[in-house]
Amino acid sequence: MGFRTDQIHAGVTPDPVTGAILTPIHQSTTFVQDSVDEYMSKGYSYARGGNPTVRAFEKKIATLEGGADATAYGSGMAATVAVMLALLEAGDHVVIADVVYGGTYRFADQFLRKFGVEVDFVDASDLDAVRASIRPNTRLVFTETPANPTLKITDLAAVSEITREAGVYHVTDNTFLTPYFQRPFELGCDIVVHSTTKYLDGHNATLGGAVVVNDPELHEKIAFARISAGLVMSPMVAWLTLQGVKTLSERMERQSANAMEIATWLEGHPKVERVGYPGLPSFPGHELARKQARGFGAMVWFEVTGGVEAGKKLMDSVRLWSLAENLGAVESIITHPVTMTHAAVPPEERARAGITDGLVRLSVGMEDVEDLIADLDQALSQI
Ligand SMILES: *Cc1c(COP(=O)(O)O)cnc(C)c1O
Repeated sequence: MGFRTDQIHAGVTPDPVTGAILTPIHQSTTFVQDSVDEYMSKGYSYARGGNPTVRAFEKKIATLEGGADATAYGSGMAATVAVMLALLEAGDHVVIADVVYGGTYRFADQFLRKFGVEVDFVDASDLDAVRASIRPNTRLVFTETPANPTLKITDLAAVSEITREAGVYHVTDNTFLTPYFQRPFELGCDIVVHSTTKYLDGHNATLGGAVVVNDPELHEKIAFARISAGLVMSPMVAWLTLQGVKTLSERMERQSANAMEIATWLEGHPKVERVGYPGLPSFPGHELARKQARGFGAMVWFEVTGGVEAGKKLMDSVRLWSLAENLGAVESIITHPVTMTHAAVPPEERARAGITDGLVRLSVGMEDVEDLIADLDQALSQI
C-alpha cells in the first residue's frame, strides 16, 4: 500500500466486539487470562509490557518506517534510553553525533559515562572522523539528520557503510523528517528512534517515543529493556498519536512548503545575517539533503543583526508565533536553543557544534504562510 493509505489503515482494524472504527483506548492495567496454561494467549498480561492500543500504534509506525517491528515509549528520550540499555554495558564505547537533541547529549554525557560507557561526540557529517572514532569496543554510532538545532546533514548511507564494515549498530533519530520524507532502513540504518511528540503526533498533545528495528531478535532485546525499565507509552497517548499520524503526509508537505517560503523570505531580509534551511541552495548540506530525503522538513534557523539582544527582542515581539520549546506540531513555534532546548550542552560544545548564542529556531506550522511572514516582519521591525 502507499504511504497515505498506510498512515490511515496500518495496524488498525475495526474493534471485533463493537465494530468501532477507531482502536479503543484499552485503559486497563491488567488483562485477565483464560487459564494458567493459556497465559498470554491473547498477547497481553500487565500494561508495562504491552497494551492493545499501544500495539496498534507500534504496528503502524513499523509499517510506515518499513521495519520489522516497533516498541512505543512514554517519550522520545525513553526510546533512546531503551536502545542504550538494551545494547550497552560497562566498558563499551559509543559514538554520538556532535549535534543531536540536547537530551540525547545530556543522557550520554551524564548517565552513560556514569555507568562506565565511553562516549565520543563526533562530527557525523565528517566521514573520516566517524571512521577514525570506531574502536574495538564500539557498539553503536548514533546519528540525527537534519540535526537539532543547526540542521547539519549526515550522510546516512555512508555512515551505515562504515558501521556495517565495523560490525556496530547504526542508530538514527528520524524525528525531524519522519518516514514520510526519510527512510533510514533503505539507507542501511539498523535502528530508528523517534520522538512521536513532534511530527508523528503533530498537535502538541502528547509526549511519546518509538523505536523501530528491522530484526526481530533486536526487537525482543529492546522490548525487554522497555518492560524492565518501565518506559512504555500509555494507551491514551497511543490513541491520540494514532489519530495524529493519519494526516502526517499532508502536514509534512504543507509545513515544509511554508518553511521553504519563510526561509527564502528571511534570506532576503536586511536585518537577517544568516539563515539555515536544508531546502535553500545556499545551505551546506543541500545537495546531500536532496539526495537522501524526499523533503527538507519544517525546521529553520536564523541569526539577526544585533546579536543575542536583538534575537531576544525579536522572540519577545512575535504574536502569532509561540515562544516555546516544542517542534513539529501544526502551531508555529519560535525557540532560543541556547537558553531553552540546548541549555544542557556546555558552551564550548555548543560553539564547536555551531549553536551560537544568537541562533533563533523556527518550527514552522500549518498556518497561512502570509500570516507567519507578516508576524516575523513586524517583530523584525522592532529590533
Ligand atoms: C524532542 C526530541 C527528542 C526527545 O523527545 P521527547 O519526546 O521530548 O523525550 C529526541 N530527538 C529529537 C530530534 C527531538 O526533537
